Amino acid sequence: MKQATSQTQTIQQLASQCVRCGLCLPACPTYVKSQHEAESARGRIALAAGLASGKLSFTDPLATHLENCLSCRSCEAVCPSNVEYGKLIDQTRHFIAQHYPPATKNRFIQGLEYFILHPRYLIWLRRLLRFYQLSGLRWLAKTIGLDKLSPSLTKIQHWRDFYPPIGVERGRVALFLGCINDLIDQTTLAASIKLLTHFGYGVHVPKQQGCCGALFLHQGNTADHHKLMMQNLQAFNIPNIQAIISIASGCSATLGEYHFTQPQAADFTAKVQDISQFLSQCEIPSTCTFKPLAKRIVIHSPCTMRNVRKQSGSVMQLLKQIPEVTLLEPVYKVNCCGAAGSYFLTKPKMANQLGKDTLISLLQPKPDLIVTTNIGCQLHLHKHTLMAKHTINIVHPITLLAAQLDKN
Ligand code: SF4
Ligand code: SF4
Repeated sequence: MKQATSQTQTIQQLASQCVRCGLCLPACPTYVKSQHEAESARGRIALAAGLASGKLSFTDPLATHLENCLSCRSCEAVCPSNVEYGKLIDQTRHFIAQHYPPATKNRFIQGLEYFILHPRYLIWLRRLLRFYQLSGLRWLAKTIGLDKLSPSLTKIQHWRDFYPPIGVERGRVALFLGCINDLIDQTTLAASIKLLTHFGYGVHVPKQQGCCGALFLHQGNTADHHKLMMQNLQAFNIPNIQAIISIASGCSATLGEYHFTQPQAADFTAKVQDISQFLSQCEIPSTCTFKPLAKRIVIHSPCTMRNVRKQSGSVMQLLKQIPEVTLLEPVYKVNCCGAAGSYFLTKPKMANQLGKDTLISLLQPKPDLIVTTNIGCQLHLHKHTLMAKHTINIVHPITLLAAQLDKN
């Protein structure tokens, strides 16, 4: 039995907020699929509390139930007692990583972590992926597990330090690139700069920025999460910026909670905004108009956008600027698409069940296009469209809006 530490006390204190009402059960995707108490938030909270107090031993089934959690926080969104489940599961995973480290680790995740921590090699990875896309060497991508890549890789874009506003300056912001977005979706980053500058904002792109650290945090690796957090706090310490803007809601969620572990990060986190949130609140200059698009667009709202950033309406509000567009919202059969950071790699069975159900919900209103604000969800859902032999495109809403901007 481990001795009580401030960490085990924190876990028990967070768990003690749960009154075991069970209202979170129908919201939990893993519970809905399994109907197993230990696969619900209520069950996992009891397991985490038992482990932290020493009343339960660490066993393989206990570890599996905790690992199976998607960190989607759908439970948190419906909990009447405001249990801070996100904090609790991250602390529990850190506790497990420290005291019961796994004997082996997923090799793909290990590789990904290496590239994220050594970003100078990311550019070579991107060149390799672009070569694959242009040459059609599918065996190569299959070997490294990236054969289901969705966005077409454009020629590598080297970002300038600053993009001045077009027309009257309304303010300045800083753009968070995100490791995966900068690797495979530079189109959306360029679209964000285009819209921000046309809306009157100067855009800083700090060179020293790194990954948000979500991949590490959700695996209990708080040391590397902390290292990346400190790197970003320094990189974005830019005077007179109104907002720190991220294009992936997964990154926005992690950046916006840096203060959970680093109270000095409060100024930084107060400025974090998802690009859809920021642009939907901007007054659009009269010089910016949008070309009509007579299409049916269904909006996929990732868990991070709904449950963490609480900004599920932003995309709808923003895309309403496009004349003639029909915007649709699905009625979800499940509360998470299963991508969930690296979950789709570590727990493919559950991830695929959830991905399939989410795609069915999205296709039900017969859309022409799907938009989503998170690159992980985009890749995972794209894989499911291929598996279902469906040809529908999935794009970021900002890429769509920038393409409709009636001005270059
Ligand atoms: S809804 Fe909240 S209080 Fe109720 S069981 Fe779930 S986590 Fe506990
Ligand atoms: S975070 Fe998601 S998967 Fe995990 S317990 Fe909560 S609702 Fe279930």
